[in-house]
Formats: sequence, C-alpha cells, structure tokens
Amino acid sequence: MWDSDTIDVGIDLGTTNSALAVIENGEAVIVKSNEGQDVTPSVVWMPKPGSLFVGTGARPGLETDPDNAAAEFKLEMGLADARRTFPGASREMTPPQLSAEVLKSIRGDAAHRLGVAPRAAVITVPAAFTLNQNKATVEAAQLAGFDAGCPLVQEPTAAAFAFGFQDAEDRGYWMVFDFGGGTFDAAVVSKRDGDLRVLTHAGDPYLGGKLIDWAVVERVLAPAAAKELGLDGFRRDNLLWRPAFAQLKAAAEAAKIALSRRESVPVTIKLSLGPGRVEWFEHTLRRDELDAVAEPYYTRAINLCRASLREASLSESDIDRVLLVGGVTLAPGLRERLADPATGIGIALDTSLDPSTVVARGAAIFASTVRRPVTASAADAGAFTVDLAYEPSVTTTTPTIGGRVGGTAQGAWTGYGVVLANPDGRPPFRSARIGLNATGGFATDVDVDPHRTSRFTIALTDAGGAPQPLVPATFSITHRDVEFGGVRLAHSLGIQLADRVFAPLLRKGATLPARAREVFHTTSAMRRDSTDALLRIPVVQGERARGDRNRQVGVLEIQPRDVRIDLPAGTEVEVTFEVDADSLVTVVADVPLVQTQFEAEINLDEVRTTPPAELRGQLEEVQQRLAELRGTAPAGEARDRLGRLDAENAIVTARDQVDAAAIDAGAAAAAEERLRGLQADLDDIEDATKLPAETARLRDLLDEADLLAGTAADRQELARLRRQADEAADLRTVADLITQVTGVLVDLERRSPEWPVKLFFGLIQVLGDHGPAKPLIREGRQAIAHQDARALDAVNQRLVRLLPAEQQDQVIGLRRSS
Ligand code: ADP
Ligand code: MG
Repeated sequence: MWDSDTIDVGIDLGTTNSALAVIENGEAVIVKSNEGQDVTPSVVWMPKPGSLFVGTGARPGLETDPDNAAAEFKLEMGLADARRTFPGASREMTPPQLSAEVLKSIRGDAAHRLGVAPRAAVITVPAAFTLNQNKATVEAAQLAGFDAGCPLVQEPTAAAFAFGFQDAEDRGYWMVFDFGGGTFDAAVVSKRDGDLRVLTHAGDPYLGGKLIDWAVVERVLAPAAAKELGLDGFRRDNLLWRPAFAQLKAAAEAAKIALSRRESVPVTIKLSLGPGRVEWFEHTLRRDELDAVAEPYYTRAINLCRASLREASLSESDIDRVLLVGGVTLAPGLRERLADPATGIGIALDTSLDPSTVVARGAAIFASTVRRPVTASAADAGAFTVDLAYEPSVTTTTPTIGGRVGGTAQGAWTGYGVVLANPDGRPPFRSARIGLNATGGFATDVDVDPHRTSRFTIALTDAGGAPQPLVPATFSITHRDVEFGGVRLAHSLGIQLADRVFAPLLRKGATLPARAREVFHTTSAMRRDSTDALLRIPVVQGERARGDRNRQVGVLEIQPRDVRIDLPAGTEVEVTFEVDADSLVTVVADVPLVQTQFEAEINLDEVRTTPPAELRGQLEEVQQRLAELRGTAPAGEARDRLGRLDAENAIVTARDQVDAAAIDAGAAAAAEERLRGLQADLDDIEDATKLPAETARLRDLLDEADLLAGTAADRQELARLRRQADEAADLRTVADLITQVTGVLVDLERRSPEWPVKLFFGLIQVLGDHGPAKPLIREGRQAIAHQDARALDAVNQRLVRLLPAEQQDQVIGLRRSS
C-alpha cells in the first residue's frame, strides 16, 4: 500500500476537464477515470432526486437535459451568491459544492489506484485567480474529503514543472501558453543554474474555448438556423430557446474539435424548438470559418503573451520555446497563428506533452515536494511521536534533518537516542546513534542519492538500548537538479485608500507564505456617538494604480462600538497582511492609540455578481468615455495609446458577455473584469491627454509663488519643487506637485500683509452679506477703513465660525503617512 510521506497526488481542477496524476517510483503518471478516460469532464448532472452523475457520465446531460446539468462552474468560484439549480432533483448547489463533486470522483479514482483515499492533494488554480476564488477551491477540496490540507499551485507553474523535469539540463526562458475551456494564462518561466521560476504572467480568467464555441453558435449556426427554419428572435438570452442553444453549443464544440483534423465537418442536429416542435438543422462548418470566428480570441491571447514578455523586459527572441497547454492549443489554426512571427509570437512550439494532462502531471511533481501532514493518533497507542523538520525536495546530497521526540518519557530523555538509516541507498546509509537532548530534540546530516528519492527509517531506543515504537518511523527526501520557485502570489494585494489610490502591501510574485505591514492614518475623526460612522477599508487585488479598477476581494471594517475612545483624524492604523501557503489571507488592523488589535479577518465571501442592468450601465459609460476621448482628438502619447487599445474588439466581446450575463454568472464576472480593464485603460489615456495642460498649470503656480517668495528658505523650497516638476512625467506626480505648490502659495499669502483683507473678502463671498454675518461685515469694512489689522483679525475669526459645520464624510478612509 501507498505510504509516502509526501502528498504525491496532483489534481488539475479545470473549467472544462479535470485530471489526476500521482507519483509512482519518482515519476508522475496520469490516472484514468473510472470510465477509462485521461480526463474527467467538470460536469455535474442531477436528473432526479437521489441520482447524481459526475464527469463522463454527466456530459450527455448538458445536451439532453440542460436544466439539470451544470458545467463551467469554475468561472463562478468565489462569488458568494452564485448557485446552480437542479429542478429535477429539487436541489441548489454552490460552485464549491459542484467542484467538490468533481473532486470526490477524482479522489475515488486515486483511492482505486493507491489503495487508500488520499487526504491531501496539490490542486491547481489559474494564475489569475484572486484570493476569494482560491478560498472557494480549498473549500471544495475540504468538502470532497481532502481534510489534511490542499496546497494550491498556479496552473502555468505546474505546467512548467512538468516540462522542466523532462530535460533538466536546459537553461533559458520559456513561455507557458495555456488556452483552456474557460481560462487563458501566459507565463514566462526561467531556468538558470537549477532554479526554475515563473518570472511574470498575464492572464484572462474568462478567455477560453467556451467563448469560441459560443461565437460559432452566435455568428454562424444560430443565424443559419434562424434563416433556414424561419425562427423569430432566435437569441441565446431567450429562455424559450435555451434547449436549442444548448444543443447548438454542444454541436459547435464537437465540430470545432473535429476541425483539428479536417477542413470541413457537417453539423446535423435535431433541434428542440419548444413544446412539440422538433426540426432538423444541417450546416457544413469549414475550418476557415472557425478560424475567422476564433480570431479575436486568438488575438487577445497573443496580446497577453506580448504583455507578459514586456513585463519581464524580454522580447520574443529571448524565449527558447512555447509550452502548449490546454485543449484549445490542439487547434491547427491557433498553432499556425502562434508560430507566425508577424501576427503571432514566432517562437518554436513544444507539443511534446499532452496539453490536456500536463498541468495535473506538474501538480503531482510539485506534490512530491510537499510533506504530508502526519496524524498523531498513534500517541494513544503508547507509541512515541517525532516531529520532523526537513525539506522533502533538496538540491544538496547532504541535507540536515532535525526532530523532536514527544511522548510519555517526556522530561526524562537521558539515554534515549535515534538512528537514521537508508538501507537501499547507493551506498547504504546508517547514522551513528544520536543522543536526544533534554527536550527530546536532535539534528544530523544524512546522505541522499542524487536524482532519486531516498527513503529513511528512524529508530528510537531507550537508555537500556531497547527499541521503542515511534510514529512516523520513515520519511523520504528527493534530490533534484532544479529547485522549485515555490507558490507565488498571483496579484498584488493591498488596500484602497480614501483617495481611491491602491496601496499594495504584498506584490505580485511574492513567495508564499508572505507577510507585510504598513502604517496608515485615518482621514477623519471617528466619534463613538455617531452611530453610522465607519472605518471601511476595501481590500483589493490587482496591478492598477486606482484601487477601484482592481478587484475588490473583501472589506475590513471597524465600527465605533469596537473602540473605547473617539479616534481623531490622523490616527495611526497599522495594517498587516498575511497569506499562507494555501493562499488564505488574514488582515489585522492595529490601532496603537487604543492599544487594541482588531483581529479583523477579511471576508472573502462577500464578492458578488454584478446585476446585468448595472453592467449595461458600465458598458454605456465606457462607450461614452471612448467617444468623448476620440472627440478631443488626442495627440502624442494619448493618441498612440488610444490606437493600441483595440477598443472595438474589446467592446464587442464585452457586449457579448453583458448579453450573456443574465443567464450566466461566469459571463457576468467576465464582463465586469473586462469593463474594469477598459476603464483603467481609458483612465491612462485621459491622464495622458490632461498631462500637457496640468504641467502648464503647475509651472504657472510656481511662477506665481516665485513672485511672493520672501525668504531664502522659501526660494530654496520652490527651487526644489521646480526641479521635481521638470522631471514629472505622469499625471499623478504632477497632481501631487500641484498640491504641494498650492500649499506653499497659501502659506506665502498667509504671511503677506494683505492676507487678512483677502480672507475677509473671501469669507463674504462664501457667507453672503446677510443674516448674522451682516453686522460683522459692516464691522470688518470699518476696520479696513481704519487700517486696524487686529480688529479685522477678530472679525475674520468670528466669520469663520459662521461657516457651516464641515460636512463630514461618514465613511472614514485611510491615507498614507507623509
Ligand atoms: P480547462 O483547462 O478549461 O479544463 P482543457 O484544457 O481541457 O480546459 O481544454 C478544454 C477546451 O479545449 C474546450 O473548450 C475544448 O472545446 C477545447 N478543445 C479540446 N480539444 C480541441 C481541439 N482538438 N481543437 C480545438 N479545441 C479543442
Ligand atoms: Mg486547464
């Protein structure tokens, strides 16, 4: 039976298909499903109460009984309100529950192969998954019976591991091109002196073969069927046609796959067109038709590859080869396009591994480096336990291993000792007897064989030399040439400040587990008696400068009732982020003033789908902004960026997804992400448009301040700001400088003799010459006439008190320490 001390089980939990690999004799092998397939379709079908099909057995349900079948639920992972209903079974299931059914089925396949159901597995997630999506994945694993922890690995990382171990001598840069059913990821990985790591990645969690299937349906098959059969309003979002569209989608996918081997395929469907109406529909689909329809999606994928290269400061010629991953990469049209140096990326393609199972393979290899959590239930059987500390995967042949023995002899370890041995080693290894220290601890070096797994026994003897039972009594260490880059954070993680700026605390690419801390200040006061005051800090993930253009993954809230005293504006709040190896995150807000730590765990369960009406509004906003920007006929950099945006294509895709949003939570999330991306691009272009005018304004303000500067210190300060202004190249820096120069100007004016008079007239403008201000204004005018500065000051002070009490923002935010 299988008794490895490392996890050794890898699962690719895919949008369309899932796959399982296990380590056997140091090699990753793909385990077939019960139906004899390399992959398990991520599909659940519940036609009636008590009957549940998963995988291959559930796929027919998608076509024959779409109301009671669910697929592609991975796109909805992490959305708190997402549900799939199964009317036939009177049931409703969440995306993690559905994923759990797929995982249970795979766990069953693993149990069949290993002889025992594994309690831990490495599970892969798209590189673009945010923390709430990762959390939902871990939840699914727990529901499926993986109760001993499931480390997550990003899919491109896993794929690179799988390819990387085939020829460990290589060095250089590779690109992982993973085009699956629901997600796309491009990643640049590097291998150098035995260190394999993911340098950068760019992805789209909602770009996949599914979109190509729907495009074939909506642009080719549905219009043809509508024309041929005389169907009115034959659209996907019409519930009446739902069964017909499910049939068309299944046919489109089958035809697409068949076109990998042929130039044209006949599509023949017996379309269900409502009660009692069934019609035959026939159409011949050609490969060039498919390629034309798929073109925008291929283009988007290639653009993401280029973005990933740019981010790594690499060009196409630096990349040795492209690793093809995901079912869509089987399409000849895509391969030709990719290999083309002009319209693709023109790098040699590596197709040596089956693109459908390579991710699971890599996950298993990763799993062979992660220790399996040991259960200490043996202690009650009278055995001693040992807590071992070692790296299961090493690049040295003489690693160090430490441990601490626990059990009934506690406190009396004198004379106890352990011996570590590997009888199958080349040559066999046996340590000297290592005496335990006063707390039961020991440490020693062991010899491991190069390029293979060494299995050690560990034997405990008491003071009299008698062997004692010990759990665990074995462990293994694998020697490899390459070292794992570890699990990395897929997106920068931080908070959104009151001015909407994103303050990342943990950067994209940080090795997990990771921890970061930063001090911020509150923007306004929080009084305990104002019941609706709230310190509300959005927690966001992404790479964009504006917080609200990134994805919100939670909120951190402090209510007045949580604090013992009023918090003045500017109160220090120390924010700490911690992300563990399973990508689970905790955020702690520490308010030193009240000497309290708010162990505020962020809520990743609050991310919801945006209603279609709101998405439509957002789409209109984007189109309007785009039209306005074009109307201003931007020049220079702004014009270049606008040209590069490829807005037409992006808007067409977004519109498709908004249309599908009403019936598909995954499409809603996709549309939202795409619209947010477009907004961010438009922000940048707008900034570039405004830059010349704002730079001119900054110079005017500096000139004005120069005229007022009286002291040498003033002039020095202004010279410093002018130097910064000369270097400022982006709108944020310029805006920042404008604020600073304005501050200097106000200060200079305040110190000028005319200030009280200026202030007086300024106040009249705000307050108006009536009511309680009227007598004060009269008094002020007299003071001016008599050149009585002190009297005027007194009047100004009383006028200031008449200003309406500052309309305090009820929602308090944070700002950076300056
Ligand atoms: P996922 O990672 O999303 O689970 P896969 O890597 O299994 O997905 O890829 C599934 C996608 O690949 C589906 O959209 C499927 O239609 C597509 N696909 C599978 N085989 C081919 C093929 N020969 N040609 C084009 N697309 C294919
Ligand atoms: Mg995949």
